[in-house]
Amino acid sequence: MEKLNKLCVMCGAIDYDGIILNGETICKACEEKIINTKVVDSDYDIYKEKIKIVLFDQHAIE
Ligand SMILES: [Zn+2]
Repeated sequence: MEKLNKLCVMCGAIDYDGIILNGETICKACEEKIINTKVVDSDYDIYKEKIKIVLFDQHAIE
């Protein structure tokens, strides 16, 4: 079963090769950003928060 919504949950980009995390799409650019972001980077908290939303606040499937 594939979801129709392929928008990247992080940046909103359309990426059909993105990874699926808990039913949400994350584009490769954002995946790499997450992987490469160090804990000391200011972006880290932003990504961490987004991932938390993805993992724990799953959208209702319509
Ligand atoms: Zn993205």
